[in-house]
Amino acid sequence: MRLSRYFMPVTRETPADAQVASHKLMLRAGLVRQTAAGIYAWLPLGLRVLKKIEAIVREEQDKAGAVELLMPTIQSADLWRQSKRYDAYGPEMLRLKDRHDREMLYGPTNEEMITALFRDAAKSYRDLPRTLYHIQWKFRDEVRPRFGVMRGREFLMKDAYSFDLDEDGARHSYNRMFIAYLRTFARMGLTAIPMQADTGPIGGDLSHEFIILASSGESDVFYHKAWEADRSAEAEGVDADDPAALQAFVGGLTADYAATDEKRDPAREAAAGADLRQSRGIEVGHIFYFGTKYSASMGFTVQAGDGTQVHPEMGSYGIGVSRLVGALIEARHDEAGIAWPESVAPFQVGLVNMRADDPACAGAADDLYRRLGQAGVETLYDDRDERGGAKFATMDLIGLPWQLILGPKGLGRGVVELKRRATGEREELSIESALARLAG
Ligand code: ATP
Ligand code: MG
Repeated sequence: MRLSRYFMPVTRETPADAQVASHKLMLRAGLVRQTAAGIYAWLPLGLRVLKKIEAIVREEQDKAGAVELLMPTIQSADLWRQSKRYDAYGPEMLRLKDRHDREMLYGPTNEEMITALFRDAAKSYRDLPRTLYHIQWKFRDEVRPRFGVMRGREFLMKDAYSFDLDEDGARHSYNRMFIAYLRTFARMGLTAIPMQADTGPIGGDLSHEFIILASSGESDVFYHKAWEADRSAEAEGVDADDPAALQAFVGGLTADYAATDEKRDPAREAAAGADLRQSRGIEVGHIFYFGTKYSASMGFTVQAGDGTQVHPEMGSYGIGVSRLVGALIEARHDEAGIAWPESVAPFQVGLVNMRADDPACAGAADDLYRRLGQAGVETLYDDRDERGGAKFATMDLIGLPWQLILGPKGLGRGVVELKRRATGEREELSIESALARLAG
């Protein structure tokens, strides 16, 4: 993409209404624009990051055996009356009326809709187990939308729902998601700590929030220091189709080292001892087993193997896809701007032509840009007629993993400069070696 033809409104000023680094940087780097309180337009650069995160989430859901569909954002109030949640949900729900005066709502979540959809199709144990998911916009009329996209009112969520015949099956579905989450966040370069969460009236231990450590986070977390290392690799060796092996693995991880949001838990303190750590964190995902809550209230039964009718056991599994864009920046930034991990970066390389007014430089940069494109390297090419200093500042701000700098002096010697954004390391190398490196 040529910057001269792109839409990337970057600014030097720090926006007055933004409190946390990620919010400031998202506005300054032209990733999003607020259009109403807690509602954002995704500008081209931000949209590319959002799509990359979405793609990783989708791949890991598919690998975990979940099946994608797409449910609408607008739902009918009657659906929510079936589960008795329409009145209970409160002012976070955005309620609307259509022209016929029918009560509608903008979905804050989809348990009711997925239960109704699956209920109308699944009849027997042969239709189970299934985990269905979608990646769709939600609306919650948050009391205090803040921190930019991290607590918006309209936000993108991946929500999956599992249906099993019995509790053991539901636990297995839960465990599959548990390790899918470890993998998902690790692929984004994040260490997400599973924190035991409140299960409400259902009880049990099957609810975890996945928390990434950040001083600006809204959650308190107490955790064993072992979680500071990426533990997703340990999950690779586990056979996810083997319920006992998976349960042993997940049970082992969470029993000894489970994090909590309260320190007053003697068992945990004793287990972690001097290795207990405390931090603030951002919730990027939440997995939850809730039994037959919706299948029972919404009259969903299937025929079990012994001929009896049973309510399927359900769980739900959310990931804050749009919140992750902000959370990633909280984890990866410095004074100069963002430093994206390669897996979610909007482009891999920022190609900077130092002298757009010099025909030899422009010709060489154009050629390099074309060859990067042929090699499949996603490149943002700063071909504008601007000062080098301003171009560098912009590149550091938007945080592409690599900067490739081409100027008249280097060109005379046949070299370009390659800079790694995260560390600031620079090296000079020939155009051919630079191409080989980036395409590799
Ligand atoms: P929170 O405690 O942060 O309000 P929640 O418990 O209401 O989260 P869930 O209903 O479990 O969240 O939703 C699943 C995921 O959706 C959360 O883990 C979070 O990453 C994301 N999410 C929830 N609310 C918002 C919001 N207002 N803006 C952006 N992302 C959100
Ligand atoms: Mg909430």
